[in-house]
Amino acid sequence: MSILENYAKRMYNKKVYDCDNTEIYNLLMELVTDETAKLPTRDQDEKKKLYYFSAEFLIGKVLSNNLINLGIYNQINNELIANGKSLMDIEHTEKEPSLGNGGLGRLAACFVDSITKMGINGDGVGLNYHFGLFKQEFDDNQQVTVPDEWLTDKNWIRRTQISFEVPYRDFVLKSTLYDLNILGYKQTHRNRLRLFDLDSVNPNIIEEGTINFNKNNIKENLTLFLYPDDSSHEGRLLRIYQQYFMVSNGAQLILHEAKEKGSNLHDLADYAVIQINDTHPTFIIPELIRLLVEKGIDFDEATDIVSSITAFTNHTILAEALEKWPISDLECVMPHLVDEIRRLDDNIRQKYPNNPETWIIDDYSTVHMANMAIHYGFSVNGVAELHTEILKTSALKPFYDIYPDKFHNMTNGITFRRWVMDANKELSEYLDLKVGTLWHRNADLRGFLDFKDDERTLTKLRAIKHNSKLRLKKRLKDRMGIDLDEHSIIDIQIKRMHEYKRQQMNALWVIYKYCDIKNGNIPETPITVIFGGKAAPAYTIAQDIIHLILTLSELIRLDDEVAPHLQVIMVENYNVTYAQYLIPAADISEQISLASKEASGTGNMKLMANGALTIGTLDGANVEIRNEVGDDNIYIFGKESHEIIDLYNQNAYNSHEYYTREQIKPLVDFIISHGMLYFGNEERLYRLHNELVTKDYFMTLIDLEDYIETKEQMLRDYEDIDAWYKKSVVNIAKSGFFSSDRTIANYNDTIWHLPVSYGEE
Ligand SMILES: *Cc1c(COP(=O)(O)O)cnc(C)c1O
Repeated sequence: MSILENYAKRMYNKKVYDCDNTEIYNLLMELVTDETAKLPTRDQDEKKKLYYFSAEFLIGKVLSNNLINLGIYNQINNELIANGKSLMDIEHTEKEPSLGNGGLGRLAACFVDSITKMGINGDGVGLNYHFGLFKQEFDDNQQVTVPDEWLTDKNWIRRTQISFEVPYRDFVLKSTLYDLNILGYKQTHRNRLRLFDLDSVNPNIIEEGTINFNKNNIKENLTLFLYPDDSSHEGRLLRIYQQYFMVSNGAQLILHEAKEKGSNLHDLADYAVIQINDTHPTFIIPELIRLLVEKGIDFDEATDIVSSITAFTNHTILAEALEKWPISDLECVMPHLVDEIRRLDDNIRQKYPNNPETWIIDDYSTVHMANMAIHYGFSVNGVAELHTEILKTSALKPFYDIYPDKFHNMTNGITFRRWVMDANKELSEYLDLKVGTLWHRNADLRGFLDFKDDERTLTKLRAIKHNSKLRLKKRLKDRMGIDLDEHSIIDIQIKRMHEYKRQQMNALWVIYKYCDIKNGNIPETPITVIFGGKAAPAYTIAQDIIHLILTLSELIRLDDEVAPHLQVIMVENYNVTYAQYLIPAADISEQISLASKEASGTGNMKLMANGALTIGTLDGANVEIRNEVGDDNIYIFGKESHEIIDLYNQNAYNSHEYYTREQIKPLVDFIISHGMLYFGNEERLYRLHNELVTKDYFMTLIDLEDYIETKEQMLRDYEDIDAWYKKSVVNIAKSGFFSSDRTIANYNDTIWHLPVSYGEE
């Protein structure tokens, strides 16, 4: 009897053929869990381990990814097909874990996949959020936030017996550790996500939406949400409670595991290396020092030990995202850590009296998390070449001057197992045919370049893209009742809503196109512009941009002259699952951030690997994408980062100057035209208009004309469909550099120095 039939018999006393999709999902989950349990962790054999601390892990659905990594996807899929079932339908039963929010969390998820695939002993450490960030819904063309209930009774996390006590000022909280197993592609061992939680958390305290709950009731609210709204003081304190909970538990876990393996703690560096993903886990430094001192190690030695094992990844140069906390807030939450932090700061003041900008505590008694992480870690890395250069020469220059050897570049990557093999099965199988299957392991697709001039390859790629559009069409119909034109050019901008990412610039292009069509210039091929992304509840302008897009979408949909040629869709609740539908269907990848502001981006890499052509600024990893594919296979526009940095330094950008230009003014004013006000909300549209005209901090208007011209060129180029797909071949073939396996190999060679152990073929 086949393994599937075995499970069906045992669990339901049925044939697979007679099971419904939920039953099949449940038996597949059981099967994967059993197969996973056969894989040991590496802790028995290896002393040293990586602890990857991150406030988020945006892992996406687990089932099919695990089937792929176990190497049994095809076998199971074929058997299901033979029984009239579809894995895609079965997957609808699975809820996407809501443990992350955007690029940073998705990066952490790609990293744990690659770490495990490469046979590195390494776990992720984070929190088990019950409702994640939030689920996004649209009402009246505006974003509404509701709790994302993903922790149903069938899920992939497993309660463990491990528990620690976390001391706060007024009480002690007892944690529970949950594990989520991470499988590596055809690997012999597993790693884990170690997610801490509290048994006393109580969802019933949420009154409405995701904002209204008692922020002071820490025992009941601690792990309800990722990044709780920090516009109130209580909200900010809650974030500190969370951060401390993550790192205190994580630190105790590290010491517990090291001691079990025989560490005397003086030699902790032989047992652990810690990578902190952005500043949220930075309190691990004083906390680990505190715990070592508690165990009898002297403060200076403890500091040296912790500094020698902690490495920091910087993700942004946006000032508002460089975390800092008032000492008084830390006193409210964990006063016992403040002594350590003051002592660490005193040391820095004595050592670097002439570099006050690097001190940990500033004149306003505010603790700068990145400063602590850089001084007291042994490595700092940026996430793309340009980003690391900007860190060295401007954002973190005072630190680079002190520690030139601490700085490294680790250009981000994505796992091809999820983003090609799982998300785009048809492309994946075609690549297997063309270049063999070694790319599953090394992402080397350069052999595909040989087919750039092969007519049949171009036709096949086009057919694959068309099928992906049909797959997306079905999803959009099911979820939103929208009819996608599968014959249209699909132009996609999917990422968190932020002014620096400039969704508003794309919206202004839509306005340009709308007016152009109204003037009788009908595009040869219809165009569908798809947006997806959440806006932070406290970020008003980002919500206004969502409103602009949704209002535009409605106005165009109801305009019979324009609707056949131009469609605007904003998908509700963009997440990893949605991304897996959208990315394979994309012709155009929008990567139009203001140069210098996007640290790397990873959406750009996913879209490239799926054959979309990029329109983008020279920002983040776009620069490296251009280096890989060459100028002929990417559409670059806009001011460069050094020009933008100069403008900021000289305070020399004046949006009004651009606004009054002949080509720009009508587009911006369209936002508050009668038509828009008819469908939209006056306050939101006026506020956004005013923002663009009087401030435009992220310089949308500076690049608008160049953007429109470049996009028009791109649309003209699409009409030579063979030439277009040749470029697409080059993009796919050159995408291998952006494998997160390469990124992890870089981290390991320069920072972690852990043994690697490739699995068996
Ligand atoms: C990859 C990814 C992101 C990051 O996108 P960027 O374009 O790099 O900002 C955000 N959200 C989801 C769901 C993703 O899969």
